[in-house]
Amino acid sequence: MQDGDQRFVDSIVGAVRAALGPRDGFTPLHEPEFRGREAEYVLDCVETGWVSSVGAYVDRIEEMLAERYGVERAVALASGTAALHVALLVAGVEPGDEVLCPTLTFVATANSIRHAGATPHFVDAETRSLGVDPAALAEHLDRTCERRGDALFNRATGARVRALVTTHVFGHPGELDALRALADERGLVFVEDAAESIGTTLDGAPLGRHGRVATLSFNGNKVVTTGGGGALLTNDAALGARAKHLSTTARVPAENFGFAHDEVGFNYRMPNLNAALGCAQLERLDDMLERKRALAGRYRDAFSGLDGVRFLDEDERTRSNFWLNAIVLDPDRAHLTGAVLEALNAADLMARPLWNPMHTLPMFTACPRADVAQAEDMARRVVNVPSSPALADPT
Ligand SMILES: *Cc1c(COP(=O)(O)O)cnc(C)c1O
Repeated sequence: MQDGDQRFVDSIVGAVRAALGPRDGFTPLHEPEFRGREAEYVLDCVETGWVSSVGAYVDRIEEMLAERYGVERAVALASGTAALHVALLVAGVEPGDEVLCPTLTFVATANSIRHAGATPHFVDAETRSLGVDPAALAEHLDRTCERRGDALFNRATGARVRALVTTHVFGHPGELDALRALADERGLVFVEDAAESIGTTLDGAPLGRHGRVATLSFNGNKVVTTGGGGALLTNDAALGARAKHLSTTARVPAENFGFAHDEVGFNYRMPNLNAALGCAQLERLDDMLERKRALAGRYRDAFSGLDGVRFLDEDERTRSNFWLNAIVLDPDRAHLTGAVLEALNAADLMARPLWNPMHTLPMFTACPRADVAQAEDMARRVVNVPSSPALADPT
């Protein structure tokens, strides 16, 4: 490597070290943190026998989420992927439909579209926040789709384009207003994949109530974990009730203590044991957010003076949860992303590249897509750095 390149790579390792302070051993990307009543609530499940698919903690986590988000209904589910699947079904996605989906997202977003029998139609990212690029999307829809009545159709495939899913990448809202307006204008159902953004607010309102339906993930690497789990949020009570019904085997009251079901449902409910963990985690969400924001502030400072790289920051309207802190290498340093990842991991500072764009994965290469050049470019230049809330604790 040339001297200048080596100096650049060293400067990045130095900045991450400066942000984190002196540390011993390996620093993971995002660790769960159990400092509240987690053990107490989980033990309560074990001692009372309420460990499975019904129980007080399931009701409680749903109430806590509905209140926190200010929505009519929250439904606790087995995973973020299950939440997305149910969200698409209750949003009216039908087999054969296309669903507009960012190519820069975690694979669950695209998988869930397939689970619903639909086809992901991949769209480009904007380079400021990594969210869906609304201007590029509008231009793409103008060129490739046509309106018939209330519905939008892909001219090339003939399929109905039913919905737009947006991902709040690393906790940031992206161009949320523009995307929602575009969805409304074009007759698309707007779905928020808010898996990464619990706690983020835009103009003071939590991300997750801007769409007809939104989904959360409580996987172990997310800000709030239930071990594994997710939730669906909606302001439409009927839609929420339908999500609950579908995700709990579509069971209906039956005579003589029997079982009756009125459609093909899913066993997607969150067990009480997991909900117990989640209730204790949610009680401490604000504390975790505060420390995650403090950590992001340290990264911001450490990277502010550096050439050739920027910290992926929030804008003025946003208070981000900074789920995963990210740095973006300048285009002329893109060839050094591998060396930066190598150097950070060699220094026991866990670092990861951005996802491989969805349209490059073997099961999705044949799916329709827009020009995704910006997403491909960003996928080569973004690096995630350690982001656990505990990293902001005094050492
Ligand atoms: C974590 C995540 C999900 C859901 O993941 P699960 O592991 O199924 O809970 C969905 N979308 C995005 C963008 C995610 O980051």
